Amino acid sequence: MREVASNVFCVGGTDVNWVLVRDGNDLTLIDGGWYGDTEAVLDSIGALGRRPEDVRAVLLTHAHIDHMGALTRLHEQYGVPVYASPREVPHAHREFLEQATPLDIVRMAWRPSGVAWSLRIVRAGALRHLALPFVRPFPNEGALDLPGRPFPVECAGHTSGHSAFLLPDAGAVATGDALITGHPVTRVLGPQLITDRFAHDPSQAAASLDALAGLDADVLVPGHGEPWNGSMKEAVSLARSQGAGG
Ligand SMILES: [Zn+2]
Repeated sequence: MREVASNVFCVGGTDVNWVLVRDGNDLTLIDGGWYGDTEAVLDSIGALGRRPEDVRAVLLTHAHIDHMGALTRLHEQYGVPVYASPREVPHAHREFLEQATPLDIVRMAWRPSGVAWSLRIVRAGALRHLALPFVRPFPNEGALDLPGRPFPVECAGHTSGHSAFLLPDAGAVATGDALITGHPVTRVLGPQLITDRFAHDPSQAAASLDALAGLDADVLVPGHGEPWNGSMKEAVSLARSQGAGG
């Protein structure tokens, strides 16, 4: 766990990150790792001296299983509300699915690092079926009344209702999978789009980078890869120069 900006903590799970935002005794959690990362998510809350009940809400960038694993436990055992974009809510409910299949994953696993990765994620719960019927749309438009005053930023493409979250007090953006900095299926490091094969609509994902480029922040906290320091404008221009990895 790393404090990447004031009161913003990036935690690495099984090749995926989640973010804790602290305000006094209260926390906002952004995303929740794989099902197999559930204990690690709870441990990361404990490492800040907080209890799961201190999480005021979970914000879900998008309803892929590597970002939603701990949320059933947090909601059912501790009553934590979970919010996502109104466009992403039916995806979280599994009224439809916009996610790479196990066969897509096998096709990407031809590199040695990819083979190790696919074994890790199968152990972490990649073959489970997860639906989160309790996910609700953000309670209001604009900044949310939660620790860190997170401001949802629509950046569709990876999924139809993907959101990033600007944390204005910290000058950080949790970008989910709209803009990442590394992934075991690619060799590229630094700001980049996730491989087209993971994206529901790659051209929309590329266009959505515009929404991130204008954000006033100098810390990028991605869903995959290491946190990155620099302006969002620079991050987006680096991602554009890379094209989609993989
Ligand atoms: Zn994803």
